[in-house]
Amino acid sequence: MTPSYRPGVKWGSLDGCLPGFVTDSMREALPLLDRKLKGFADPDAVLTGVETRSSSPVRIERDGGCQSNLAGLYPCGEGAGYAGGIMSAAVDGMRCAEALIEEKILRLR
Ligand SMILES: Cc1cc2nc3c(=O)[nH]c(=O)nc-3n(C[C@H](O)[C@H](O)[C@H](O)COP(=O)(O)OP(=O)(O)OC[C@H]3O[C@@H](n4cnc5c(N)ncnc54)[C@H](O)[C@@H]3O)c2cc1C
Repeated sequence: MTPSYRPGVKWGSLDGCLPGFVTDSMREALPLLDRKLKGFADPDAVLTGVETRSSSPVRIERDGGCQSNLAGLYPCGEGAGYAGGIMSAAVDGMRCAEALIEEKILRLR
């Protein structure tokens, strides 16, 4: 399998990147996961690491109407610093969409 991760990957052993207690736990866990989700411990399976932080460490500030100090720009979701996962990103997207609709309605009045 060819990884699609950008900017690219370098093949290696995770033993050189993670402490022993982590790789030991992974070695223990993968066969267990494979029993529930077949393919998890496949010899061709690729692990991509190491992800040091999954969410944005910065947050673009926004006002009560979800706009940034650049009017009309609605910073939203993970990259803007308002979410850390799929659900929180989706909910924040809905929050911003509602704020945008509200703003449009107010403008029409
Ligand atoms: C490997 C991995 C595993 C994950 N696993 C989980 C998990 O199990 N559970 C969980 O809850 N979360 C998980 N997450 C986190 C979750 O995927 C993100 O938090 C979520 O997708 C963020 O949603 P978003 O809409 O804020 O951003 P994104 O989903 O990144 O959407 C941003 C969009 O903007 C587009 N874009 C970027 N720049 C531009 C531009 N200049 N012009 C136009 N479009 C642009 C991108 O193409 C993209 O489609 C995982 C993340 C990764 C990387």
